Amino acid sequence: VLIVLSLFFLIVASIVGYFMSRKAMIPIVKSYTRQQEFVADASHELRTPLSVLYSSLEVIEAEEQDKISSFSRKVLFDMKDELKRMKKLVNDLLILARSDSEGLDLLNETFDVVSTAEKLIRSIQPLANSGQIQLHLAAPEKLIMYGDQERIRQLLFILLDNAIKYTPAGGEVTVSLHRVTKQKKKLLCLSVKDTGIGIPLEQQKRIFDRFFRGDKDRSRQTGGTGLGLSIAKSIAEAHQGSIEVSSTEGSGSTFTVWIPLGGRKDKEGDI
Ligand code: ADP
Repeated sequence: VLIVLSLFFLIVASIVGYFMSRKAMIPIVKSYTRQQEFVADASHELRTPLSVLYSSLEVIEAEEQDKISSFSRKVLFDMKDELKRMKKLVNDLLILARSDSEGLDLLNETFDVVSTAEKLIRSIQPLANSGQIQLHLAAPEKLIMYGDQERIRQLLFILLDNAIKYTPAGGEVTVSLHRVTKQKKKLLCLSVKDTGIGIPLEQQKRIFDRFFRGDKDRSRQTGGTGLGLSIAKSIAEAHQGSIEVSSTEGSGSTFTVWIPLGGRKDKEGDI
């Protein structure tokens, strides 16, 4: 009887414990979701006034050109620079908040990722030229995949922009796109390799964390927000892919992304 009674109490206690913990969890989960929604809404609402402020400054700069002193012109220039940073920060926060609350809303379209990369490299070439950095592309003629073209472009932009930012003049940045098979799955293997400053081993685990930035002064000089790589990771994961880094301090870094070519709906058979 004693054994049966204690078993009975144990079962009742476990059931009560289970429901109590669930009940306790619900408000926490709800408040977390509300917080994510709040960040998403706030970022969305902040975009318009920031754009209005930016264009107003441009109007003042253009119309009052001969009336304003060189000091005021410099102040205007700095204000525009800060507004640009704020707009980027707000956009980045919006992407991350959306990916937290409802997951990134991805399109599932068919596109040639090589031509996407070629176009992006053409548009980023002036930035590379100004930093005296050579850009290379190693890719087949075509590589068709399913996914969200704009998001993949954004992911590649983040990696390329970083590679250029963190590579001193005279360096090289190489983008590679290949089709690989891993555990019977066809994947896009995208990598961005630079000959830049590299990332200390102890920081490599943390660079995908939100707001993480390497050496403070170095990052401030480059004007980053510390959100780029966490967005790149969200985009790769939303495509059921992954991202990793290998780097040697002083000699360069390679960021590699694997994404299923068949997209989330796994249209591999068609590819
Ligand atoms: P940030 O806006 O600061 O560039 P990211 O999230 O894109 O933010 O990167 C986080 C940190 O990772 C950077 O501050 C930098 O220290 C490091 N990092 C990223 N890419 C590179 C790279 N290609 N070479 C060296 N360090 C890098």
